[in-house]
Amino acid sequence: KPKVVVAGRSNVGKSTFVRHITGKNVRVGKRPGVTLKINEYDMGNYILVDMPGFGFMHGIDKKVQEKIKDEIVHYIEGKRDEIATAIQIIDAKSFLEIVERWDQRGEIPIDIEMFDFLNELELNPILVVNKMDKIKKTQWDEHLNKIVETLGYKPPWSQWEFVVPAILKEKKGLDEIKHKIIERVNKFKSQKT
Ligand code: GDP
Repeated sequence: KPKVVVAGRSNVGKSTFVRHITGKNVRVGKRPGVTLKINEYDMGNYILVDMPGFGFMHGIDKKVQEKIKDEIVHYIEGKRDEIATAIQIIDAKSFLEIVERWDQRGEIPIDIEMFDFLNELELNPILVVNKMDKIKKTQWDEHLNKIVETLGYKPPWSQWEFVVPAILKEKKGLDEIKHKIIERVNKFKSQKT
């Protein structure tokens, strides 16, 4: 069965997403990064692979954080031919703040690094921009435009099929994500035969 990988830094709402899409009781709000465990869920047409959260986490050693990122990259590279697509979840608000901080240090933000990596492997990643409830409705377009620009894509954001604004805690955006997963899984299956 094709695999669909779910990645995101910790606290973006990845557990909330996995809980809603699988219907399984994944723990939400748990202390991030304490396990390196990669969880797999049989979704019928595909296997959902839940990666550990990456990026800075309070109280977790920098070396451990690096190890988590390496583990994710290693897994995806090793299983590349079995992976139909990837879902990267970001926090609408903190994404731009974190990017700015890293930029000032002259480093490449980990979220951008991950998204570029998924694209380089031609996984056609779905970018879920979660926690849109934290952004005023009147600023949605401007905010989403900034996000796509930061990732190297021209505004308007709406021309990019891979972007899905979401409020996962209210299940908003979930159907659109499911639809995009199925499209990609079907395409992957047809290419295999
Ligand atoms: P994970 O660390 O990425 O697995 O994130 P969790 O699913 O555990 O969520 C982290 C926190 O964000 C929890 O307190 C969630 O309730 C909250 N959260 C999840 N989705 C949303 C959302 O759409 N909007 C807001 N405001 N908070 C959310």
